[in-house]
Amino acid sequence: MAQPSIITNTTIRSSPALHRSWVEVSGRQIAENFREVRRVAGDGVELMPVVKADAYRHGAVAVSRVLEEEGARWLAVSNADEGILLREAGCRAHILVMADFLPFERAALAEHHLTPVIHDIGDIADWAAIAQRFGRTLPFHLKVDSGMGRLGTRANASAIAEALDAAGPAVQLEGLMTHFASASDFDSPQTGEQCAYFRTLANDLASRGWKPKYLHMASTNPVGYAMRDSFCDLVRPGHAIYGYVSPARGATAPQLELRVKPALTWKAAVLGVKDVEANARIGYGGMHVTRGPSRIAILAAGYADGIPHRLGARGRVIVRGTYAPIVGAVSMDLTTIDITNCPPVGVGDSVILLGSEGDASIDAQQMARLAGTISYNVLCGIHARVKRVHV
Ligand SMILES: *Cc1c(COP(=O)(O)O)cnc(C)c1O
Repeated sequence: MAQPSIITNTTIRSSPALHRSWVEVSGRQIAENFREVRRVAGDGVELMPVVKADAYRHGAVAVSRVLEEEGARWLAVSNADEGILLREAGCRAHILVMADFLPFERAALAEHHLTPVIHDIGDIADWAAIAQRFGRTLPFHLKVDSGMGRLGTRANASAIAEALDAAGPAVQLEGLMTHFASASDFDSPQTGEQCAYFRTLANDLASRGWKPKYLHMASTNPVGYAMRDSFCDLVRPGHAIYGYVSPARGATAPQLELRVKPALTWKAAVLGVKDVEANARIGYGGMHVTRGPSRIAILAAGYADGIPHRLGARGRVIVRGTYAPIVGAVSMDLTTIDITNCPPVGVGDSVILLGSEGDASIDAQQMARLAGTISYNVLCGIHARVKRVHV
């Protein structure tokens, strides 16, 4: 059997694997991204970085520490458990719990000094009852559905004011917020309509004597494209902290203002290398058939680690600064790549699933496009069993 020809004239050395599969998260890059968000947000706008879903799988505790050191006074999570985890790790910032006001967790929110988002005005009285039980004033933010059609009250200002008046001083309306459905689509009128709805409601509430400290609407995309009208008192960047802004759509799309970079590199170990002849079948379903003599590497990561199954026969990884295609199906714990044209690697070396090396680079948006999903899904899909190393 003919040996595959191997490129050996590369300057990038193979690096040994530390685990089967792991991510390296750069605290310095997280800090730089946070500072960049602060620059674009400008003076007088509070920042509330979003560390839900374990900081988009970057590790909520470590990321929150970096952000607090950078001066973040607010953090946002999705549910009570995520907030409690941060409190137990010693996090002192205000923590907004954005998508959880389930009856069985309300007392825990108060106990751990977490600030809930209430999205149904009928629940304000219940928060007031909990406040009385705890013997202190409990703040909350009220979420308005300005057109997203998901969580948030559709009540008008008079109904909201009535519920607030009825709840009395035990609770404090600290924030009024909404969330955009189409912030990166500049052909859509939806963002403008949502802004207008929210501002009108806020003004109506103000005229009834309810002026919360924070009005907030913007997540990453409005910050990324410097849509200052939406910044109000506070912005809630998630994706940007991790180095991403969604690409803008539409003829009138403004320039991208925010310069952030991915903070995470995802690696996997080479578990095996084999030389196969032409016409060899690789993996489940015999999906891949080699054209000529080929060198195949088997990686110690699969869809159970978060490599999208859809990347079978579509995706690629980086081997010593060169791209190697994924061949055959992505299996649960293993992925096969063709390294015939790559510099040599052996068992125990590592390859890059997400990240950069030499001139080669793969980010979550590129992986998502190939897998027919979104970058958020790729990041959040990195499984908990993938080790995390903070560098
Ligand atoms: C997740 C989330 C954010 C952050 O969104 P990014 O696009 O990641 O910046 C902000 N606000 C709310 C309500 C969210 O659920």
